[in-house]
Amino acid sequence: MEILSPAKINLFLKVLKKRPDGYHDIFSLMCPVSLYDSMSFDFTGHEICVSCKHPGVPEDKTNLAFRAASLFFEKMGDRPSGLSIRIDKKIPVAAGLGGGSSNAATVLKTLNKHYANRFSQKQLQKIGLAIGADVPFFILDKPAIVRGVGERLTVYDGLADCHVILICPDIKVSTAQVYKNLNLGLTNCKKKPKYPIFKNRNFDVRNNLCNDLEVVATSWHPEILEIKNALFHHGADNVLMSGSGPSVFGLYKSESQALEAMKKLTENKLWKVFLANLLL
Ligand code: ATP
Repeated sequence: MEILSPAKINLFLKVLKKRPDGYHDIFSLMCPVSLYDSMSFDFTGHEICVSCKHPGVPEDKTNLAFRAASLFFEKMGDRPSGLSIRIDKKIPVAAGLGGGSSNAATVLKTLNKHYANRFSQKQLQKIGLAIGADVPFFILDKPAIVRGVGERLTVYDGLADCHVILICPDIKVSTAQVYKNLNLGLTNCKKKPKYPIFKNRNFDVRNNLCNDLEVVATSWHPEILEIKNALFHHGADNVLMSGSGPSVFGLYKSESQALEAMKKLTENKLWKVFLANLLL
């Protein structure tokens, strides 16, 4: 059984405050995109095992797909049957594109289907949240406003179709370090924030892209700015870093312009460059 596990981008990401438990409350607009890992599932054997040939991804019980399977069986309460999961990675790892969380969500959804929808979507999202903040979003699998640490989701239908060029440079950015170095002095919110741009349900990608984490990541890695400039230079309507980076995406209304830009941008062999669509 071969299943696709999509990446995500954050079109809007405000970090509201640090919570007493160390996590951060966010307000984000997230959208799945058509860049996929491929996962296959084999329900034989006696235990859970994961194979993934990507050097940055563990194959042991720390793999997020393994954790998802093991937590699913634990919550199910039955004796787990065997499950072999194979992951073919195409989504760059630790890149702000949510690949690991997406894989975990794909496992939870696949197992739930296999076991006759044992859990409701809400229950599955609760299980997913224990694995990672982005897992509930990938279980929903639709554009959404994401609040809290990632558990409060509202489907968002104000996005228009567009072409996305994703660029991931060969640099490492630690999500934890980015959050730690964020200056929350200015953004720490006491009141519930209201973002009027989400009221009319039409998100204007030309004017409203925003990521609080970008300033931190770019201060350490000017290459992120270089990528932003390259995308603008090649006709993107707007450009932003996704999540805690280092991936950057450019949005194009025109397909021919996106294809033209791809030709130029793939000339830089230090970058991984992908063409995708928003999954609306
Ligand atoms: P985050 O912002 O949560 O770190 P990300 O989207 O930037 O997420 P991921 O590709 O999900 O990054 O990888 C984050 C870490 O999780 C990596 O260090 C990686 O080794 C580990 N990991 C565990 N399981 C997986 C998996 N199935 N796919 C990708 N990475 C995984």
